[in-house]
Amino acid sequence: MATQEQANGRLVLVPGPFQGHLTPMLQLGATLHSRGFPVTVFHTQFNSPDHSAHPDFDFICSNDDVSENDRRSGNLIRLLNKLNSSCEASFQEGLRGYLEKEGQGQGIKGIVFDPIMYFTEAVARRLNIPRFCLITNSATTSLARAILPQLKAEGLIPLPDSIKQDKVPKLHPLRFKDLPVSTVGDISDLLQLIQLAGNMRTSSAIILNSINFLEESSLAQLRETYGVPIFPIGPLHKMGPETTTSLMEEDERCMAWLDKQEDNSVIYISVGSVASMNSKQMEEMAWGLTNSEQPFLWVNRPSASIPGSEWIESSNEEFKNSVKDRGCIVKWAPQRKVLAHRAVGGFWSHCGWNSTLESICEGVPMICQPCFGDQLVNARYVTHEWRVGMEAEGEIERGMVEEAVRRLMAGKEGEEMREKVRELKQGIDASTCEGGSSLESLKELVEFLLLPLL
Ligand code: UDP
Repeated sequence: MATQEQANGRLVLVPGPFQGHLTPMLQLGATLHSRGFPVTVFHTQFNSPDHSAHPDFDFICSNDDVSENDRRSGNLIRLLNKLNSSCEASFQEGLRGYLEKEGQGQGIKGIVFDPIMYFTEAVARRLNIPRFCLITNSATTSLARAILPQLKAEGLIPLPDSIKQDKVPKLHPLRFKDLPVSTVGDISDLLQLIQLAGNMRTSSAIILNSINFLEESSLAQLRETYGVPIFPIGPLHKMGPETTTSLMEEDERCMAWLDKQEDNSVIYISVGSVASMNSKQMEEMAWGLTNSEQPFLWVNRPSASIPGSEWIESSNEEFKNSVKDRGCIVKWAPQRKVLAHRAVGGFWSHCGWNSTLESICEGVPMICQPCFGDQLVNARYVTHEWRVGMEAEGEIERGMVEEAVRRLMAGKEGEEMREKVRELKQGIDASTCEGGSSLESLKELVEFLLLPLL
């Protein structure tokens, strides 16, 4: 007799190979597995997930030829293009393996892909397998990216200074300067990637790590634009079993340090897995935090391509002596646990989409320091749509850091934002409960995946 899992058919997940992309895809995998779907993860050698953390999943690892130079170059878009070219053959071979084992088309229900892994389209077409797209950033970012090719055609990229402060039509409250024009590669590479990743149109459905009430108007626009079913089922880390997704080892010692701090007293600082501060910015941040007299937990991620990462390691005795026990510095934190800790009262964030959602989910207001890409869009939403954070304006400089931290942690403005973000947290909690929009959407997605689609 067929088991429930065999009856449902296998889902093959193809995550983008960066922390902020891998995490929501693995969370989606855990959620769908808990609802009866067998899961295979096809991934690159570069930033490979830890297989032992997901004993219920099958894994296929592609052969990719990412060199040390590619890793160090910081040009993520070129790196992605290279991965897309090298993955196609091993992906097709891996899928054929399943099809042969499990009978023509019977065994694979579909491919759930990150749009940046655009090589999946050709393979799915050849093997006649439906695809479902998981958008790992916000719905608003997807809309904002989609208008970049048109702006380029009109000669508006690079953005002229004269329009930077103007509002983007239909994308309130974004200004042109908030558009996700990346600096991690050059603009022609970005536009090419947007075009290739625009293959969302050929997918049978779009799944989003978003919540209806947070992005109602953008989700409605997305529905209109793509004309396929859209399932906003976020926040994914609250929708299924807890799952380990970190590419780096989490330093749990900071939790014991947090236990010793007072409620809502600690400012947590992290710029995610890609953005970085240079050594001058690190030094200014360090002295700004010290002068604010607020306890802080600071993630100082080591990386060969990050020029500032050695500053703390070798930082002068004067800084270490003045901080003493008031600061805790780690290389990588268990961020979701940190944000949920009663002692954490604010988050100095680069506003990656996962960090933004994780902060709102725990009712923690933010100081926004967006660096590039979708972080600009998210920061604008945090400060001007949801009003649960303030912008770190201008260059990172010790006086500015001290003032921003005091305003958020001890000022009236910070208190108002804390109240507002707690309201949003309640809204998110409600959306994940019975009858809530995300849970209902997840149930609809499961029903949809059970339909004969091709
Ligand atoms: N993260 C973490 N520990 C850290 C810093 C970040 O676990 O010390 C996690 C964080 O919880 C989030 C992810 O890394 O899930 C970063 O994703 P995000 O979209 O916020 O930013 P990106 O790294 O893609 O810029």
